[in-house]
Amino acid sequence: MAKLQFFFILRKVFPHDYLQKCNKMRFYVFIIDKRHKMKKLMIAALLLMTVAAMCQDNSRKGNQETKTLGEKQNTADSSIRIIFCGDLMGHDSQIETAKTSEGYDYAPCFQFIEGYLKGADLAIANLELTLAGPPYKGYPHFCSPDQLLKDAHQAGFSLFTTCNNHCVDRGKNGLLRTLQIFDSLNIPHLGTYRNEEERQSNYPLIMDVKGFKLAFLTYTYGTNGISIPEPTVVNMIDTAIIKADLEEAQARGAEYVIAMVHWGSEYQTTANSRQKGLAEFLLNHGADIVIGGHPHVVQNATMDALPNNDKSPEIVVYSMGNLISNIRKINADGGIMIELELKREKEGIAQDCWYMPYWVRKGQFNGLYQFYILPSYDARQHPEKYQLTEDDIRLLTTFDNNTHLRLQGQLKECSYQWERDIDSCSVHYSPAR
Ligand SMILES: [Zn+2]
Repeated sequence: MAKLQFFFILRKVFPHDYLQKCNKMRFYVFIIDKRHKMKKLMIAALLLMTVAAMCQDNSRKGNQETKTLGEKQNTADSSIRIIFCGDLMGHDSQIETAKTSEGYDYAPCFQFIEGYLKGADLAIANLELTLAGPPYKGYPHFCSPDQLLKDAHQAGFSLFTTCNNHCVDRGKNGLLRTLQIFDSLNIPHLGTYRNEEERQSNYPLIMDVKGFKLAFLTYTYGTNGISIPEPTVVNMIDTAIIKADLEEAQARGAEYVIAMVHWGSEYQTTANSRQKGLAEFLLNHGADIVIGGHPHVVQNATMDALPNNDKSPEIVVYSMGNLISNIRKINADGGIMIELELKREKEGIAQDCWYMPYWVRKGQFNGLYQFYILPSYDARQHPEKYQLTEDDIRLLTTFDNNTHLRLQGQLKECSYQWERDIDSCSVHYSPAR
């Protein structure tokens, strides 16, 4: 709470607009001894001076706003924060590095973002693999140990899409077993279904998050040429169906509609015309935000997808890149998380969003060779904390710079702090109807 008090002091002293103008600014928040008021005031004064000095440093250009993340900033139900992440993949070397004498352990992969995820009201990822049981395999037909889902969930992911080009990699049984594992762990999911009846009951997914009634929709461009086994259902991109689904979301009382699409061209850092057309279609027919994945790289984004529309902002993030994978190509070894803030105001729900880049490191931390998702800004500032090698720093810097340049002027960047106190994530899952 002491950390929050300082944050609010800063927010009171510096108007929001002024904070936004500070391109490179960090709040370093200190624990305060509540018993010593004078000490508190002195530290506050020092802190304000430090912030003012840092505001002079505009060496990193862009729309960057610093926030205290990983802490619930507003305990009232007037606002919520949702984090979106990209494609959670499972290549052969990820399976090998997760193997232990007792089974599999993916928890280390998420340890550096866990605090950030748990500080949000909802954290979402795309599970781009099947949980079909052994034998486990990466590309081209992905099947990972169930432990991957358990550890991702434990790290803070509270909702998953299963709708992507790999969901039928292991045929009907693979799709069905994946759903069975989700349900046995009571983890919400959307995008693939055992049959049409199940889809009709549960889709669009409606969730009540701290009083906000949210609708989630998801679609994929295809399934790598593998036919969808009867009677299972995979949500394919079909504008007639999408239009009906958006209407259904409204009919079910959704206050805010989130569309997540698996689309685009692999390794292309710019969205193609089909993505742009579909994004406009979604926004014009009731979606409030469109967020995508699949290309393995971060693509361009916009807060103004419908320039001639007075509805604002119209947010489209075409591709967040991979959440974790063994793809080490340039621009494909990291991704971005999107933080969406929804605020209940007199006129309705106001929205705002930021991105946070992360880089996936493949290397040793405390002697354990693993894949680690690292918040890239913090890792650049404090490489020693993450035990980075010179090579790591070079690759991380390349990824971070490229991502920043690509999104400059399109989305606001969020910084990330290393230490934080985490409350448990509170999400109320209520299947539709
Ligand atoms: Zn994909």
